[in-house]
Amino acid sequence: MNTSIIEVVDLTFDYPGFRALDRVNLSIAPGTVTALVGPNGAGKTTLLRCIAALNIPQSGTVRVAGLDVYESPREVHRLMGYLSDNFGLYSELTVAQGLEYAARSQGLATADVAQAVQATAQRMGLQDKLGKLASTLSRGQRQRLAIGQAIIHAPRVLLLDEPASGLDPEARSALAQVFKALQAQGMSLLVSSHILAELDEYSTHMLALNNGRVLEHRALNQPANGASDGPTERLLRLEFAEPAQAAASWLQMQPGVHVKRAEAHAIEIGFSGNAAAQAALVGACAAAGYGLTVIAPMTENLQQSYLRSLQAERHAATTRQVTP
Ligand code: ATP
Repeated sequence: MNTSIIEVVDLTFDYPGFRALDRVNLSIAPGTVTALVGPNGAGKTTLLRCIAALNIPQSGTVRVAGLDVYESPREVHRLMGYLSDNFGLYSELTVAQGLEYAARSQGLATADVAQAVQATAQRMGLQDKLGKLASTLSRGQRQRLAIGQAIIHAPRVLLLDEPASGLDPEARSALAQVFKALQAQGMSLLVSSHILAELDEYSTHMLALNNGRVLEHRALNQPANGASDGPTERLLRLEFAEPAQAAASWLQMQPGVHVKRAEAHAIEIGFSGNAAAQAALVGACAAAGYGLTVIAPMTENLQQSYLRSLQAERHAATTRQVTP
């Protein structure tokens, strides 16, 4: 059984004289929000356009909800919303007309159009702009209208290329809430952005591209591969009531403990052990006179995870270059 909502197999895409995607393989689970990240020129826009069947690759396949996007682009577009990084709007249509046009072109039944226009305008904070021409909207309002047009047919999959560019902080925060609500309704989102702190707020997964290849694709808020030294090691942060310099050397001698970093009142450790072993460590701290106030797992945020992947890849690339 195919459990992916988006499945990309061996996708290669060349612009004239330049390979932008190089044998990309990935599988996205339904109901997830995937942050598509990578340096300028990594291939993010090209990948989104290939998934949306707007770029036809040299080789490889893309399936969305089980449909081959190159064999059935029209069917796929009915269940997909796509916001391009340089989207255009019909400037002589009002907000209501633009939304209505999007609804009708996506095949909504006539009886449902008015309700969809109202609900989408409400969702995107444009309810008091329905009569305004698109040409008279601010950049952020235009962005919100374009996103509204992309979601008006309640697609199963939403592809967004830099959706928050041009939005003020309040509108960005509102957009994050919209994305969370869409995910809660079962929609799967793939969102390209350079604003990692914001992606972190609503993303469940990170897909990092570099030089047209997948650098890393994983669930967020789980220990990262390579973030610990052993296969079962977890990162923990211990905080102490009193200055705890002496505790670091004492901890280092405890079973399963590997001290990573020590500050005045806090120590970060790698710990290989189950919950009972962790409870025993807490007891041992107390018995040794180190007043522990907090012991908590550490997770990487998206930015830390992304930068770590990129640095590891660049280090590996440099090593490949100097090794004959
Ligand atoms: P950014 O973060 O800057 O938006 P991106 O990750 O979205 O970048 P793409 O726009 O997919 O990157 O571009 C990938 C590579 O393909 C870049 O090196 C770019 O120069 C090249 N490229 C993009 N469009 C074309 C084109 N029409 N013709 C030739 N090369 C192109």
